[in-house]
Amino acid sequence: MKNIVFIGPPGSGKGTQAAILNEKHGFNHVSTGNLLRAEIKKDNALGNKIKGVMSSGELVSDELVAQLLKENIDLSCKQYIFDGFPRNVNQAEVFQDEIMSKSNYVALLFDVDTEKLVERIINRRVSKDGTQIYNLKTKPPKVAGICDVTGEALVQRKDDTEEVVRNRLDVYLKETAPLVEFYKSKNILNSVNADLNIDQVTEQIMNSLE
Ligand code: AMP
Repeated sequence: MKNIVFIGPPGSGKGTQAAILNEKHGFNHVSTGNLLRAEIKKDNALGNKIKGVMSSGELVSDELVAQLLKENIDLSCKQYIFDGFPRNVNQAEVFQDEIMSKSNYVALLFDVDTEKLVERIINRRVSKDGTQIYNLKTKPPKVAGICDVTGEALVQRKDDTEEVVRNRLDVYLKETAPLVEFYKSKNILNSVNADLNIDQVTEQIMNSLE
């Protein structure tokens, strides 16, 4: 099977599906958002700079994110889901030219009603490392406030507040949505209806890969 690039607005379920495909189908999940949050935890000058950009919902510089990604993947032996990268056409070009050849990946669009996203995101809670994702209404943890997997308290991402979410959606439409045409023109775009429930979306993804 090929590597997959997930494209979709914030809250469309990319991280949730990546965790399922990791557990059930052996894909490795690499999220540039999680890599950036790990940099912030280092509490150094670079981390503080990243924090400022992320807390406004804008994009971190292409060079920095591409570098971080390259340092954290090993394409020689692993098969990846790329979640959150590329985020604009420049990153997509760097991805194809410097990170992998066209023949080794497909792009998958999470097609979703953007009206529902703000509600979904403000109800999102995550494990401290960001790998386990819950929703207070549609996918609550077994014990309120506690991650089923790590047993630690769940947190709300600082950029999951309504104001920042609205800016992140604007940034998505302006910067990331053009990737749909980019990948269509390369004939490597599939899409799933991400308004369906979690299991149905997983099934659509697996079918799209056959
Ligand atoms: P995410 O976890 O994918 O929702 O990303 C959270 C935030 O991290 C975004 O709003 C951006 O500020 C930053 N970010 C994540 N991935 C990228 C990327 N590929 N390029 C630039 N900024 C990114």
